[in-house]
Amino acid sequence: MDLEGILSDVGKNLRSSLIRELLKYASVPGSISFGGGVPDPNTFPRHELGEIAKEVIENEYPYTLQYNTTEGDDQLAIQMIKLLERVYGITGLGRDNLLFTTGSQQALDLIARVLLDKDSICFVEFPVYLGAASAFRMTFTNFETVPLQDDGMDVDYLEKKLDELDRQGKIKKVKFIYTVPNFHNPAGVTMSLEKRKRLIEVANKYDILIVEDDPYGLLRFEGEHLPSLYKLSGHDRVVLLNTFSKILTPGLRLGVIIGRADFVRKTTMAKQAADLCSPSLNQRMAARFLERYDLLEYLRPGVELYKKKKDVMIKSLEENFSDIKGTKWVNPQGGLFVWLTLPDGYDTMEMFEIAKEKKIYYIPGEAFTIDDGKSRSMRLSFCLPPEEKIIEGVKRLKEVVVEYGKKKGLM
Ligand code: PMP
Repeated sequence: MDLEGILSDVGKNLRSSLIRELLKYASVPGSISFGGGVPDPNTFPRHELGEIAKEVIENEYPYTLQYNTTEGDDQLAIQMIKLLERVYGITGLGRDNLLFTTGSQQALDLIARVLLDKDSICFVEFPVYLGAASAFRMTFTNFETVPLQDDGMDVDYLEKKLDELDRQGKIKKVKFIYTVPNFHNPAGVTMSLEKRKRLIEVANKYDILIVEDDPYGLLRFEGEHLPSLYKLSGHDRVVLLNTFSKILTPGLRLGVIIGRADFVRKTTMAKQAADLCSPSLNQRMAARFLERYDLLEYLRPGVELYKKKKDVMIKSLEENFSDIKGTKWVNPQGGLFVWLTLPDGYDTMEMFEIAKEKKIYYIPGEAFTIDDGKSRSMRLSFCLPPEEKIIEGVKRLKEVVVEYGKKKGLM
């Protein structure tokens, strides 16, 4: 059978993620990987979840082993509303403001399904979280990219672009602005309070929805907690996405959409068609965990661990890269990623061949562009390797950069 002949336009358009391809190399013995953005398994509450799983399967099997409603577990909703009030200071939420999703990746997909058409425009940051771009791309939407600065997206640039589209009569085609305001994946930066306020102002001016994706907000190592866009603007303007992946375990595949009731209802209908419901067992396990344990207390050692690893990586970068003029990195206040930018002339995708030889892996910046554009940046994740491997890995990376630079006549 000719598979190509029966593929849909979406099917034809699908491509394997660059990250998946590159990470295949990271299992080679002796390799050090700064590639994967997955949490350290030592932070998972495995004993607590193990006990809870046994208990809720044996005692609550008519619920936990059964189909769920599409909206998800009401008991988890109660816990989530409490958590959102405690962590974000968001009040006034009811059950109909929440939809539990299969990871926040599904939330991105559902949002694309209910908002984007072929001729729609969505604004994303540059560099962009690859998973969001992949989900939005399934609809053949048009992308506008807004450069990220050290304090978050360039809101002046965004306003200029929106103004142009308005003058061209295309403003109604703009469906939303997607942003990861805290400890951005991949750029590591956090949007300042001033920019948060400005972004809401600009979104209000052109009447555009903001999609705020915040998987890393609770993983803050230093600096002051900043209010979420949702808290600042209210649920008419912003849809907030959250996930248990980085604060409990990604294996539960549990995310949540928080927004105005009519929007949540639409995404619920889309979810019904996608997978009927998220696993009842996982939702009830998360609910019981939140009931019994103080999530913020439980997170503390994990956040300390990441901070230590991040400090080791930043120190190693200072030691190894300060003498390469034009190199820049962001010291993140939380999250899992450092974004390293090399001088002009570097192409981190081409350089990856040398990195493979030296068994040091990173994600080339090209993976976080909309159009596979060349990039002199790379994403380095510090969350998995132990400290001594981070030190060794950065040394190897320096060797890679020097070898490539000499080969290309850049140094
Ligand atoms: N948004 C961002 C910015 C992410 O980094 C991730 C995970 N890497 C996700 C969404 C998806 O997370 P999950 O589906 O595991 O909840």
